[in-house]
Amino acid sequence: MTTLLLTALALAADYDLLITNARVVDGSGNPWYHASVAVKDGKIAAIGRLTGAKATENIDAQGRVLAPGFIDVHTHLEGSIELHPDALNFHRDGVTTVITGNCGSSHLDVAGFFDRISRKQFSVNIATFVGHNTVRREIMGAQKRPATPAELDRMRALVEKAMQAGAVGLSTGLEYIPGTFAPTDEIIELAKVASKYGGVYASHMRDEGEKVIEAIEETINIGRQAKIPVEISHIKQDTKKFWGMSGKMLEVIESARREGLDVTVDQYPYIAYSTGIGLLVPSWAFAGGDGEFRKRLADPATRAKLRQEILEMNRRKAYDDFSYVTIANHRANPALIGQTITQIANGGDEAETILKLLEAGGGQGVFKAMSEADVEKFLQHPLVAVASDGSAVEFGSGQPHPRSYGTNARVLARYVRERGVIRLEEAIRKMTSLPAARFNLKGRGLIAEGYWADLVLFDPNKVTDQATFEKPHQYASGFDVVLVNGKSQSDGKSPAGGQGLRHQP
Ligand SMILES: [Zn+2]
Repeated sequence: MTTLLLTALALAADYDLLITNARVVDGSGNPWYHASVAVKDGKIAAIGRLTGAKATENIDAQGRVLAPGFIDVHTHLEGSIELHPDALNFHRDGVTTVITGNCGSSHLDVAGFFDRISRKQFSVNIATFVGHNTVRREIMGAQKRPATPAELDRMRALVEKAMQAGAVGLSTGLEYIPGTFAPTDEIIELAKVASKYGGVYASHMRDEGEKVIEAIEETINIGRQAKIPVEISHIKQDTKKFWGMSGKMLEVIESARREGLDVTVDQYPYIAYSTGIGLLVPSWAFAGGDGEFRKRLADPATRAKLRQEILEMNRRKAYDDFSYVTIANHRANPALIGQTITQIANGGDEAETILKLLEAGGGQGVFKAMSEADVEKFLQHPLVAVASDGSAVEFGSGQPHPRSYGTNARVLARYVRERGVIRLEEAIRKMTSLPAARFNLKGRGLIAEGYWADLVLFDPNKVTDQATFEKPHQYASGFDVVLVNGKSQSDGKSPAGGQGLRHQP
């Protein structure tokens, strides 16, 4: 009996999976090293030569790079992940963990969200913020005024409930409605609640152009007053007139860190941003909600004033027209997708065109408004993580920003391989251990024993982003194996492995 048992044990595999002959880029930023990596029960069980180790499944890496799966801390997939649980655009870009609920917009019921996703299979691990816009809208609608003490209390309670349910922190979108109507003090008070639970304050700041320095200072001040770590979301200089300001912006952040304030940053590697075209219109137009907005448009004098302010805002940014804005989504008339606002206006009044688009239900635009030099300067800074700002897209639908498909591949192809802007190991650090440390994602972001087996295998000479602004619906290529908690989408379709990641204070 004993003999039989011993024989059975000797024949049984030591591991579920063994990846041999890999160049391990472990996520720390250290130079790659040769090793084999063994996986058991969803975790990294051993790293080394592992000669003679037996596994149920074997992969010969043939010298390719094995890195931790990418952690994308800036996504917007709370509205799409349940429709597209395979999140193929992320998965094929090497992403294994996402944080959603950014820019102030999240599920209000975080507990319910985690509950729902725990009953389904996903191809990525999912964590979420609680969004300030979501919370404020729930209590105050789109009102343009400070909160009363009672309203502030109710907002505090909603943030607290979300933090208790496992949100990683509080996000704001202070360029958006209704967040833009909130004074700094309100954000500080709500950030204090997130701080109590060990959360992070992540902000799409009040301004990313002319007043970006003031906006960075406001963000840092919120961290200082609320005693909370700060993540500056998708850092950029989005106004042509102020291109070249990246160095100055980074200096303000460095000086905050010298003061002892814990501030970090993320960015997507593109010279265009994407958001609702309402951003082109002064925010007072939307105060009070959609009904009020339509009333304003119906009044000829107010409409004329809006047209004038839209053009003035654009001129202040040093643009002559709106040819830098391409329509990405417009439900009322999909034929407009892919055209610029200048093309749609066709010689007519572009401000009027924008108002008409908004009247017809609005939509998303892609705004080509950043400089390559600033993008590279941010990417070179050690405080800046790589994050897509993308969502789980439906393949072939609309004209989305290519970042949803190719963010990580693009950094590795364009900025590491082609332009030599950063080293491979540094790029991987920005996609793995830096974001994991920022958001305290335990057991992720490094190739280390005992860590979750979130892993990507790729040839650094081949990995490529395919999605472009013109043809965005193209998956990144070259991430040959993507494991999430040790599981792969074996048929290339069925999502596997992803877990809801509830933040633990
Ligand atoms: Zn944003």
